Amino acid sequence: MEIKKDIRAFTKDQIKEHFVAIGDKAFRGQQVHEWLWKKGVVDFDDMTNLSLEIRNHLKANFAINHVRVDEMQKSSDGTIKNAVQLHDGKIVESVLIPTEKRITACVSSQVGCSLDCHFCATAQLKRMRNLNPDEIYDQVVAIKNEAEEYYQRPLTNIVFMGMGEPLMNYKNVLEAIDKITSDEGLGMSPKRITVSTVGLAKMIKKMADDEVKFNLAVSLHSARDSVRDSIMPINLKNPLNQLLESLEYWYIKTKKRVTYEYVVWKDINDKKEDIDALVKFCKRVPSKVNLIEYNPIDDGQFQQADPVVLQNYIKALTANGIVAKVRISRGKDIDAACGQLANKNELSIS
Ligand code: SAH
Repeated sequence: MEIKKDIRAFTKDQIKEHFVAIGDKAFRGQQVHEWLWKKGVVDFDDMTNLSLEIRNHLKANFAINHVRVDEMQKSSDGTIKNAVQLHDGKIVESVLIPTEKRITACVSSQVGCSLDCHFCATAQLKRMRNLNPDEIYDQVVAIKNEAEEYYQRPLTNIVFMGMGEPLMNYKNVLEAIDKITSDEGLGMSPKRITVSTVGLAKMIKKMADDEVKFNLAVSLHSARDSVRDSIMPINLKNPLNQLLESLEYWYIKTKKRVTYEYVVWKDINDKKEDIDALVKFCKRVPSKVNLIEYNPIDDGQFQQADPVVLQNYIKALTANGIVAKVRISRGKDIDAACGQLANKNELSIS
């Protein structure tokens, strides 16, 4: 059987050209594009302003390789986790996080992850592939629809803090963001989008050169190479001085403050020299710090530091004019919190 081409892989112009080529109007292509991207339909039969003949033509010649929410779990705190099945059967996870003022979608950029951060559950899956732009976009649309259905509220923010390293799938992440922010897609402001990275210096510079308009978060966790090397192997190839230099470059080019994500663990980064190093690091580039609660992953070698240490971090940072907050985790009971995305239903990955 011939495999039908995914119509969503075509640009609007290409779809228009297709219609012109079969003797129809370019405008028909415009209508189809709107159904696909603005209205997010997943079935040609739902394109109700097209004639039956056109719909049958589309069905005979194209597929819509949309993602499907395979399983939805709701946490006692209102967080929703979607296990999203891709057209090839692989699964990624995305999370809806409701707060009083915002509804945030946390989306994945890769199936699995290759970075091997020792404290992260996603690292225990090997990276299997990059997501396509539309697979990223679809996760956002699924959450937008859930926000409207379950909370009667619009989606307000998007964070690329799900599975995978967005800057290792840069081109597709950028394309997805283009669609999310375009009027032909969701028309969301890039100011409401944050891309989180382990801190790949070369790619941060590239983003700065590309003058991207979204926000940058860096998963720092330590401002000392010896410590960071031991928990995040990427630091061996991409040490803190290179990271910092790229962040300075980012700030000069974009004038955007960087957010550092930071977990404090007992006996790992809970000493005075850890705090001092972070303060020094933060002074170099305008930034703010989110101290995130540790979400234990199954093997349990990491433990959340004493609350007093967190307060010491906050005191030292604020005394130096750096905004710092403690972030309480959401969705822990359904393994939807930071670093817990790992497909407990992994067997369904073929
Ligand atoms: N690869 C990107 C995107 C993943 S974001 C990045 O590293 O930024 C996921 C965030 O959760 C990162 O800040 C990561 O360091 C953090 N994280 C991973 N495991 C965690 C855990 N067990 N508890 C709390 N945060 C964790």
